[in-house]
Amino acid sequence: MTTLPPLNRVLTFEDARHLVEQHASGLRPTHAESMCLLDSAGRILAEPIFADRDFPPFRRATRDGYAVRAADLGSLPVTLNVVGEIKAGASANSPTIANGQAAAIMTGAAAPIGSDAVVMVEYTAAKGSEVEITRGVFAGENIVPSGAEAKCGDQLLTAGTRVDHRAIAVAASIGKSQLHVYKKPRVAILATGDEIVQIDSAPGPFEIRNSNSYSLAAQVAAVGGDPVVLSVAPDETNRLRELIAEGFKADLLLLSGGVSMGKYDLVEQVLTEFGAEFFFTGAQIQPGRPIVFGKSKNKYFFGLPGNPISTMVTFELFVRPILDALAGLAPQKLMFMHAKLKAEIKAKTGLTRFLPAILSGEFDQTEVEIVQWQGSGDIAAAARANCYVVIPPDRDRIAAGEWIAVLKC
Ligand code: AMP
Ligand code: MG
Repeated sequence: MTTLPPLNRVLTFEDARHLVEQHASGLRPTHAESMCLLDSAGRILAEPIFADRDFPPFRRATRDGYAVRAADLGSLPVTLNVVGEIKAGASANSPTIANGQAAAIMTGAAAPIGSDAVVMVEYTAAKGSEVEITRGVFAGENIVPSGAEAKCGDQLLTAGTRVDHRAIAVAASIGKSQLHVYKKPRVAILATGDEIVQIDSAPGPFEIRNSNSYSLAAQVAAVGGDPVVLSVAPDETNRLRELIAEGFKADLLLLSGGVSMGKYDLVEQVLTEFGAEFFFTGAQIQPGRPIVFGKSKNKYFFGLPGNPISTMVTFELFVRPILDALAGLAPQKLMFMHAKLKAEIKAKTGLTRFLPAILSGEFDQTEVEIVQWQGSGDIAAAARANCYVVIPPDRDRIAAGEWIAVLKC
């Protein structure tokens, strides 16, 4: 992959994203650990999971009703002799079903030998030792053949899968009470700026509390990273250098602020001293245009623009693939949902815009509306939003009622 000197590599949104994905595809976590099944929720599997038996292990009835031979139900109604009752957990060996016979059966029970379908109880009437059936079935109806879901030894989950509730169900069903999962990557978070103060100190009239370290830490933790929040770096090279060196001890370094064109935006300059390669130094997006992505020795870093909404958005758009890869997750594409625009949007062309917005409505009537904001420093507006509307760079107007892409995060 080629490296250009800093300050001159501004990519389109898609190119920048794909470049990050390309780098992410070469990353693997180095350490794994075993954990109790429930504790592993949210982690990434470091081992594949195989079926320890056929699924289902027997011909499973999927309805309460009567196990029958489908051919007996040619002309309806028909009356069959009931030769037994099979509840879940009971053997399929008895009774066996011959022509003209049926057995009462419960959901989850093994279909008895000789039967090839289950008629739902709703279409039957019990009459002493007989049952009258009013609806036909096809052979195989309401029975899942043994091994139809998976054969013993089949791979059910691949390494690199996030352990969500579905994966937990799979692991539980094969009796894994412990899972081998990757360790959480450590992500150093370094806010920069002379005006930035700790949140528990009273800011001077022109100072700002450090919100970015906290929002970033929350974003990192939410996707399975271990945030390490460093002290705020002033806009001064010596201390910035010390803290960047500290940050490179983690698996990934996220800086916020100091990457714009101002005289005191020193982050790129100091990173260069660390032998950094810069893959891009900007993306044609708003908010977040000055985003920087690079690598120093074997460690990736992002210089995220300091404006709080820029920091939040660029984390989701660009940091995620690298963090996911370090956590062990198989590559994920960025996907947008779509919603109907409530009110017209006008925008300048040239940048892909991610504007804070509110999703509302319900079911298939999902609507979206941008929130009024004062630009990428407006934390209060962001907090009113629950998504970002995505405006392509070639659109200067999107009419009310149009379907529009939405980034839900
Ligand atoms: P910068 O990217 O350093 O030019 O900063 C852009 C804007 O974001 C400025 O208004 C900063 O005060 C603000 N900002 C930078 N870092 C933080 C932070 N850690 N928390 C809150 N606001 C910040
Ligand atoms: Mg700054």
